Amino acid sequence: MAGEKNLALAGRRAVVTGAGRGIGRSIALALAEVGADVAVTSRTGTELDSLVADIQAMGRHSLAVTCDVTQVEQVQHMATSLIVGLGGVDILVNNAGNAGSHKFLNHPDELWERMLAINLTSVYYVSKAFVPTLIEQRWGRIINIASIASRVGDRYIAAYVAAKHGVLGLTRALAAEMLPYNITVNAICPGYVDTPMTDASVSNISARTGMTETQARETLAKTSPQRRLIEPEEIAALAVYLAQDMSKGITGQAINVDGGGVMS
Ligand code: NDP
Repeated sequence: MAGEKNLALAGRRAVVTGAGRGIGRSIALALAEVGADVAVTSRTGTELDSLVADIQAMGRHSLAVTCDVTQVEQVQHMATSLIVGLGGVDILVNNAGNAGSHKFLNHPDELWERMLAINLTSVYYVSKAFVPTLIEQRWGRIINIASIASRVGDRYIAAYVAAKHGVLGLTRALAAEMLPYNITVNAICPGYVDTPMTDASVSNISARTGMTETQARETLAKTSPQRRLIEPEEIAALAVYLAQDMSKGITGQAINVDGGGVMS
């Protein structure tokens, strides 16, 4: 009905990792927009504070805990604080991640370990910390922000590709194990999204190749058949759908949002 608000997630409680900026921030705001209370985490407290204020201004309950999701003790503390603060958790969005690149010849072991830790092991730690609560409730949604690099390989990003392929494996295995508890586990696989992470890639390409930043951004946009970067809000809209009761038939899936680049 005209003017009537969609509050499909009213009464639901969500946690979003890596919510300070980029895709995570958009997802947190979109979940709150349709009624959810939303707790947020990342390492930068100032970004979280401004997001919490924005969510509270929508009339939702919101709180933040800073946490490095690669550190298991910090993850356990964050999960305990947020579960108590929200009075339970229904929706978990594993969004925190980071991209790094290097040619495979002389690939630094430190980069390999860092990419696996932030993009894959963190999803394991955070999921493990929240799953007991979801099982207890016999209802839950886990949404992993993977990547089109979970679907295909590319030059210079071996560690990122390996980690993001691993996220799909974890998504499917966990989805199978959570079937008896009304918990769905799915992944979203974006192509290049217009976020600070992509800004960093643009600067990196520009520094390495001598292209201007505008040319470097166009090069990334042209990797999509739609010849554009994806907007963070497009990822958020899909996350909102996957968080709803109506999506209960979808589990163990990976959905590409990449302008038609990979049709699988
Ligand atoms: P941004 O770099 O813009 O934001 C990343 C967020 O994750 C920040 O809030 C950052 O906060 C947080 N974060 C990073 N490292 C950690 C950590 N160790 N512990 C806790 N939080 C952390 O990234 P995007 O929004 O672009 O990306 C979000 C997700 O989407 C990532 O998983 C990424 O791999 C994926 N993705 C992105 C694409 C893109 O083109 N942008 C394409 C495909 C997938 P802080 O630094 O304060 O901790």
